[in-house]
Amino acid sequence: MIDVRLATVSKRFDTSSDAAAVDNVTITIGAGEFFTLLGPSGCGKTTTLRMVAGFYFPTSGHIHFGDDDVTRWSPNKRDTGMVFQNYALFPHMSVAQNVAYGLKVRRVPRADRARRVEEALAQVHLTGYGDRRIDALSGGQQQRVALARALVIRPRTLLLDEPLSNLDAKLREETRTEIRRIQRESGITSLYVTHDQAEAMAMSDRIAVMQSGRVQQVGTPHEVYYTPANAFVARFIGRSNVLSLPVVSARETRVEVRLPGGATLDVGAAVGHRLAEGDTALVSARPEHITIAGPDEESALRGRISHIEFTGMATHLSVDVDGTDVMAAVIDAPVGIQLGDVVGLRLVPERLWVVQP
Ligand code: ADP
Ligand code: MG
Repeated sequence: MIDVRLATVSKRFDTSSDAAAVDNVTITIGAGEFFTLLGPSGCGKTTTLRMVAGFYFPTSGHIHFGDDDVTRWSPNKRDTGMVFQNYALFPHMSVAQNVAYGLKVRRVPRADRARRVEEALAQVHLTGYGDRRIDALSGGQQQRVALARALVIRPRTLLLDEPLSNLDAKLREETRTEIRRIQRESGITSLYVTHDQAEAMAMSDRIAVMQSGRVQQVGTPHEVYYTPANAFVARFIGRSNVLSLPVVSARETRVEVRLPGGATLDVGAAVGHRLAEGDTALVSARPEHITIAGPDEESALRGRISHIEFTGMATHLSVDVDGTDVMAAVIDAPVGIQLGDVVGLRLVPERLWVVQP
C-alpha cells in the first residue's frame, strides 16, 4: 500500500485567463484510505483525478505515489485502476474478455489471465458471469465488471470518477456499499470523485470539499458535518442555517453570541478564529439542531411558520424570525402545528459552530 500526495498542484487549461481549473491543491491520501473529492459540477474534481491518473500533467506542483515523484509519468507507468461514470466497457466482448483486457495489454500469460479474471470476478461477487455478454447485464452489474477490470491488474491506486451517477437511486445505494466493501477487502488506496454529499459521507474515510478549483476543507465525514470550515461547506454538506450574530465575547474555542431575542449563547469555534467583542460571527446551525420549544420552555428564537413539510422521519419547518428564514426539523412534531403559527425555537448550543465567510 502506498500513499498519494498532491503538493500545490494547479492546472490551467487556458493560459490567457487567470482562472485555474485546479488551484493550489495540497492533499495527502493515506495508504489504504478511501478519500473523496466532493464539490459542485465544474469545481475541478475530474481534472484533479486525471492529473493523478496521468491523463493531464499539472501546470505546477507535484504528485507523489509513495516515494515516487510521478508528476510527469505516463498513465500506464503509474499502475492506476480507473472506473468511470459510463463504465467504458467493450459491449461486444464477454465479461471475462473485458476483465482480461488490461492483463492482455500487460502481456500476462494466458493461464495466469484466466485465474486472475476468476479472482477479480469473485472479488466483485460476479463469479460465474464470465461468459455473459455485457449488454445482458444490469447497470449495477456492469459497474462491478468495470471495477473487476480495474482491480485485476492489481493497481497501486484505484481512481473512481462518479461511478454511480448512471444508476437509479436504490441501485446507487447498494453499489456504493459494494464498492466500499471491495475497497476495504483489497486495502487499495482509493480516490473517489462525486458531487453527491450523501454518497461522500456514507463511503469515505476522509473528504476534500472543493469549490472553484480550491480545497475548502479536508476532514472525516464527522468533521466536515459538525465543524464546517466555512459557509460554503456548511451549506453544501447537508443543509445549514448560517446566522449572522453579534459577538459578546470570545475565547480560544468558544464564542458568545447574541440572539435576535436578546439572549446570549456560547457556541464552538475553531482555534485561531480571530473574533472579538463587537464583531459579527457567522454561526452554522443545522435544522435538526433547531426544534420547537415546549409551551412552558424559554425559547431562544421566536417566529412564524412560513413553510411546513412532513417527510415521515421529521417535520421540516421554515420559521420567519424577524425577516430571516430559519430552517428547523422536528421529530414527532406537536399535533396540529400549521402554517402561520407562532412558535418558540430551542437550539442545541453544543452543535452550533462558528464558520468563516
Ligand atoms: P468537475 O469534475 O468538478 O465537474 P472539471 O474538473 O471537469 O470539474 O472541470 C473544472 C473546470 O475546468 C471547469 O471550468 C471546466 O470547464 C474546465 N475544464 C475541464 N476540462 C477541460 C479541458 N479539457 N479544456 C478546457 N477546460 C476544461
Ligand atoms: Mg467531473
